[in-house]
Amino acid sequence: MTAVQATPSQPPAGDDPDFAALKAEVGEYVATRGEYWSERVERERQVPDELWDELRDHGYLSLAAPAEYGGRGVPLTRYLELLELFSTSHGSLRMIIHVCNGVWRPIAAHATAEQRERFLLPLVAGEIKVAFALTEPNAGTGADIRSSVARDADTYFLTGEKHLITFGTVADYLLVIARMQDTTGAKGTVALLTPPRGEGVEATLMPESMGLRGTDHARLLFQRAPVPVANRLGEEGEGLSVALGGFLAPSRLSLAMTCVGLAHRALDEAVAYAKRRETFGRKLAERQAIAFKLAEMATDVQAARALVLSAAEAWERDADAIAEPAMAKLFANDALQRVTDAALDIHGGIGYFSPSPIERVYRDARAQRFEEGTAEVQKMTIARELLRR
Ligand SMILES: Cc1cc2nc3c(=O)[nH]c(=O)nc-3n(C[C@H](O)[C@H](O)[C@H](O)COP(=O)(O)OP(=O)(O)OC[C@H]3O[C@@H](n4cnc5c(N)ncnc54)[C@H](O)[C@@H]3O)c2cc1C
Repeated sequence: MTAVQATPSQPPAGDDPDFAALKAEVGEYVATRGEYWSERVERERQVPDELWDELRDHGYLSLAAPAEYGGRGVPLTRYLELLELFSTSHGSLRMIIHVCNGVWRPIAAHATAEQRERFLLPLVAGEIKVAFALTEPNAGTGADIRSSVARDADTYFLTGEKHLITFGTVADYLLVIARMQDTTGAKGTVALLTPPRGEGVEATLMPESMGLRGTDHARLLFQRAPVPVANRLGEEGEGLSVALGGFLAPSRLSLAMTCVGLAHRALDEAVAYAKRRETFGRKLAERQAIAFKLAEMATDVQAARALVLSAAEAWERDADAIAEPAMAKLFANDALQRVTDAALDIHGGIGYFSPSPIERVYRDARAQRFEEGTAEVQKMTIARELLRR
């Protein structure tokens, strides 16, 4: 195995030469170590701690967090350029980068000074992992959640179920969104940081998913699990706004850019294959039907990237610009599905078989339709904003 860089690269100062150097470094990492990890994770079907450690040691888990929390302070639009590169790699590597560079946001926005020391700084330093736990098997994702807490003095007792929770078995803390007993709707929700183990908590690994091999997803069962009130982020009644307010837009933008990155990878694979594969005496790339397909795919990638970056700029100018990130996620995701589907077509039947890279890319892409909200959820946001304005 290639030796891992022992010390993180120097933090970028934010000016262009530093950023260009960081971007080149990430590109090189993805092309070399990223490919090594893709092959290994697919074969072993698990993400070893070594990968987490390597990404942390390179400083890649703290790219987007501000310097005051120990992060590298890369502004969102520039971070998205890096995320596009990471997303050309294996889905599990992309997931670690995406979650770690995003989950600090709701914590930073609501943590007390004491919580900052206990949760935020170790998270940004890569010393602890935090998983985000909202989705439930028996309720809609959002104001419909049923997991609830009963308060007794300085302790909440948490009861309920969550599922599909990325890193839910390996995390040190779960950011759980629940509600105060006997409340309905967004009112009465709370956000709590609690470990996925201990009294009254059962975290089970879910069966293997279609793509994102190696990433653990957990089913969580809470049966009057005690959680100190001191572990609550924000106030009682603010749970959903902790989870979604200010966090959802950059998270959607990030997820949208991961779609661009993976679509970019699918396009590259398709171009290389079309230039290589010969049928009936000519390369596939020389057939207009195939070349036109490649042209459409490239246009989709370019259009999605431009939309994500313009939505990010809109959100950086005005944090109330929430329709734009939803549009970016909606479009980039649809583009990703179109591009990966066409790329698999261009590969012919052999593309359907492992270890063809497009076989994995196609499976990984499908997960991105669900993450950070489905197409229907994005359309609800866009329509609501459109009609409100
Ligand atoms: C790989 C992966 C990782 C994930 N990681 C996490 C995580 O870390 N933490 C977490 O909390 N969750 C996570 N999720 C869950 C993800 O956020 C949800 O799957 C997603 O939000 C959809 O919710 P659901 O699965 O409950 O679908 P459902 O709400 O059951 O929806 C099913 C279908 O119906 C549509 N639908 C639902 N309600 C409506 C409506 N009112 N109007 C119109 N259409 C509707 C949906 O768009 C969808 O197409 C993950 C999911 C995946 C696949």
